[in-house]
Amino acid sequence: MNNQNIKICSACLLGIKCRWDGRDKRNKKVIDLLSKEALIPICPEELGGLSTPREPAHREGKKVLTRSGKNVTENFVKGAGMVLAIAQNLNIKEAILKQKSPSCGCGKIYHGRKVIKGDGTTTELLKKYKIKVITEEDL
Ligand code: SF4
Repeated sequence: MNNQNIKICSACLLGIKCRWDGRDKRNKKVIDLLSKEALIPICPEELGGLSTPREPAHREGKKVLTRSGKNVTENFVKGAGMVLAIAQNLNIKEAILKQKSPSCGCGKIYHGRKVIKGDGTTTELLKKYKIKVITEEDL
């Protein structure tokens, strides 16, 4: 049985200051959803062992590199796996993730200051396991 009223949610959308720049991306539509749904806050980059604040990163094919060229792919892959494990353990089938993030983006991701087509590392893994991903832009 699915936990239909429980969703995974990017922690920054819920007002948690976990972004690379130490800020949040609190979103009123997401916060308003809390009156009818349980949203489990996750930040794959922190779960993958990166600190906050941290250098911004972008996907380069299957790799993830910071602005200065450090390879942080392992952190991104580890974080994605932990988010998947949380979803599977709680039988959650949907996620609301932050658009354009190299972890959480869905269909659009930042590449430096440009936006390109693609999914973030976590979104890609969740979709592979049939977990539906929407973004704050879809609310
Ligand atoms: Fe928000 Fe996702 Fe970036 Fe964490 S990894 S700060 S949850 S967009």
